[in-house]
Amino acid sequence: KDTPVLGRKRVLLAAPRGYCAGVDRAVIAVEKALELYGSPVYVRKQIVHNIHVVSELEKKGAIFVEEVDEVPTGSHIVFSAHGVSPAVVTAAADRGLLAIDATCPLVTKVHREAVRFARDDFQILLIGHEGHEEVEGTAGEAPEHTTLVGSPDDADTIEVRDPDKVVWLSQTTLSVDETMETVRRLRARFPNLQDPPSDDICYATQNRQVAIKKVARDSDLVIVVGSANSSNSVRLVEVALEYGARAAYRVDFASEIQQEWLDGVVTVGVTSGASVPDELVHEVLADLAEAGYGDIEEIKTAEEDLLFSLPKELRKDLAGNA
Ligand code: SF4
Repeated sequence: KDTPVLGRKRVLLAAPRGYCAGVDRAVIAVEKALELYGSPVYVRKQIVHNIHVVSELEKKGAIFVEEVDEVPTGSHIVFSAHGVSPAVVTAAADRGLLAIDATCPLVTKVHREAVRFARDDFQILLIGHEGHEEVEGTAGEAPEHTTLVGSPDDADTIEVRDPDKVVWLSQTTLSVDETMETVRRLRARFPNLQDPPSDDICYATQNRQVAIKKVARDSDLVIVVGSANSSNSVRLVEVALEYGARAAYRVDFASEIQQEWLDGVVTVGVTSGASVPDELVHEVLADLAEAGYGDIEEIKTAEEDLLFSLPKELRKDLAGNA
């Protein structure tokens, strides 16, 4: 461990952290839809998994629903960054809804892989968390060809139809290390297991994990800003603990930090999930500064400059309005 000047309290701030290109695009898509079409604009599921972002959009006139049958015919509906199955797209069209698809392009990429491997009659071993919206969307592309692998232990027990016709795909926001362990155990049983054509775990998830690994090594405590249903945020807590933090907690807001977490702590690592606006991190830093942790060092392990263009339905209507 790096030893800070004896006993001097400090913060190591991970970078990259916070908003990824897919979240940024999805949030802007809802804001632009509200500007273009006026409120309400309906959004199926949380646009991104962050309670602050959702409540800010609600204030601007977005209405969040669980399913398309809750939306009045003829309304605009935005599909969340996590993606939807073809059945949802069809249900929205049948109801006469005007859909704006804010699925992250990196999730769409995994959907395309699923369609292609299913067409070639592969069994898709989809590594991911049961019930997560992204997994439901991806599995929905080829339900008869998809088997969910929820954990490394599942890899030891799942049954396959033909061990020579199996491919693994994954949710975009998993722990890289745990996923590799799952794949290792799958391959031990099915040596002809195919890999995805490119990484399914997205650049943002990977970069945030690399950064927190470096920070965690030198931190007594790690605070991850992110919501409980944010897969990549929860993974950051696990990774921090695995990589040497003595304790790691996830908070939605600075007010959730408990005084006793800081007992005896010299170095606090701070990061945030891919759906978290940086203002929430700044509030955490301000509270830490008040508690004596005003000395902040940013630990940067990658540059990110990826940007996605807005969903095509919006680009068309924005161009028409210009
Ligand atoms: Fe896209 Fe990755 Fe961000 Fe999810 S975490 S929205 S897959 S860039």
